[in-house]
Amino acid sequence: MPQPPVFDNSYARLPAQFFHRQHAESVPAPSLIRINTPLCTQLGIDKTWLESSAGLDMLSGRAFPDSADPIATVYAGFQFGSWNPQLGDGRALLIGEIVAPDGHRYDIQLKGSGRTPYSRGGDGKSPLGPVLREYLVSEAMHALGVPTSRALGAVTTGDTVYRDNALPGAILTRVASSHIRVGTAQFFASRDDRQALSALCDHVIARHYPHAADSANPVQAMLNAVIGAQANLIAQWQGLGFIHGVMNTDNMLLCGETIDYGPCAFMESYDPATVFSSIDHGGRYAYGNQPHIAHWNLAGLAQAVLPLLHTDEDEAVKIAQSEVNAFPERFVAAYQKVLANKLGLSDFTDSDDELLKDFLTLLKQEKADFTLALRRLAERASGRELVKTLWDFPSSFSDWLQRWDERIARDSQSSESRAAQMQRANPLYIPRNHRVEEAINAAYKGDFSPFNQLLEVIGQPFDDRGEWLDYARPAAPEEAVCQTFCGT
Ligand code: AMP
Ligand code: MG
Repeated sequence: MPQPPVFDNSYARLPAQFFHRQHAESVPAPSLIRINTPLCTQLGIDKTWLESSAGLDMLSGRAFPDSADPIATVYAGFQFGSWNPQLGDGRALLIGEIVAPDGHRYDIQLKGSGRTPYSRGGDGKSPLGPVLREYLVSEAMHALGVPTSRALGAVTTGDTVYRDNALPGAILTRVASSHIRVGTAQFFASRDDRQALSALCDHVIARHYPHAADSANPVQAMLNAVIGAQANLIAQWQGLGFIHGVMNTDNMLLCGETIDYGPCAFMESYDPATVFSSIDHGGRYAYGNQPHIAHWNLAGLAQAVLPLLHTDEDEAVKIAQSEVNAFPERFVAAYQKVLANKLGLSDFTDSDDELLKDFLTLLKQEKADFTLALRRLAERASGRELVKTLWDFPSSFSDWLQRWDERIARDSQSSESRAAQMQRANPLYIPRNHRVEEAINAAYKGDFSPFNQLLEVIGQPFDDRGEWLDYARPAAPEEAVCQTFCGT
């Protein structure tokens, strides 16, 4: 007999002001798009149950296993720098938490399951396109080794969702270590609800940073750990040319995983000013700005937890500042590790800055594809020539390549280990925007094979699969996607 998952709902045991108990809206005709088999295994979820009609009921919000305790959680946030005191799961529902066989606890959440008290003017629903985009990009990020929320499955609902057009509705089942945001702390801080803030920090510490409990100042240790996790995360984004697009404080998780794949996209030709989101007019969340925005958001977190850092306000401010001021340095240290791997160095030191800067200047001048250029560099280290058929360094790079040759000749590691390191750090396959669009457009016409095919390709981002090479190709001018949109 297939067995339903058993939920254990630690967030739902928090005080009442953290959430609203809520059921999903009924959907007329749910139909399965896909279940994520490896993730089922990792979570210890019985795949045959998930594929059964009871499983479809859960993925579409029709009915949940008895152990579920579905809630919409509340939070606030700074959206594009403007304070919004009242946000929350407006189109999402936390079904419950699962403790996986490895002991790790995960949230299982529906996204697009209908209205909640936090929906404000929205319908709580999601069209099919954003669900497929999130599925693809979050799974790509996972395969690329980036901490991220994941996709357990997706269904169409049989509903019509009205945006600019009438579109088929869908629901994504999202998995994350938790969905606790910087904006969650900001919600309670802004209401001066010291007790709730303290309960939230205790929960985050117990769940994500248990070592902080042993510290003389646990909330400071938690803040320190969140800042470290975010420094690592953003360093990985930068190394991949990933542009999140909506780095509002309600879209930044305290557990350090990437969340909310709305208008996100991967940069193709290198330019730090690259923006895709249709609503990011000022370029606030441009590629090159992401580390600064992360810093700003973390300052917001520090400010929110200020009353818990010290009973004396001046002391509390000093502690907060010392933690927040360390972010740039911690980011640079994390990014230097990423860069060392990408450039084939055993160690990236400040003296390599010049080499990097000149590389990036050339990339920008040549409008070179960020991903292909780095993968081609990895090929030079290994002697392979697959990417070369798509893109090779133009002559303007000759001097730079010679400098790089000299630099790696001075490096201590063997050429074999360098080649392997670069191959693992510089993907061949990313979810290119035009491919994601192509998969979505086909799905709107009822054909999910491009979606499934793309998912297979981006699941093996570092492999030299020559038969997939067309997926490594940047968009031709007529295919280029210049703008992306939120799911709303
Ligand atoms: P996001 O841009 O996805 O981070 O969403 C920002 C806020 O708007 C969150 O509180 C969402 O729950 C809410 N929201 C986004 N889309 C919808 C929708 N279609 N219906 C209700 N609430 C929504
Ligand atoms: Mg959000």
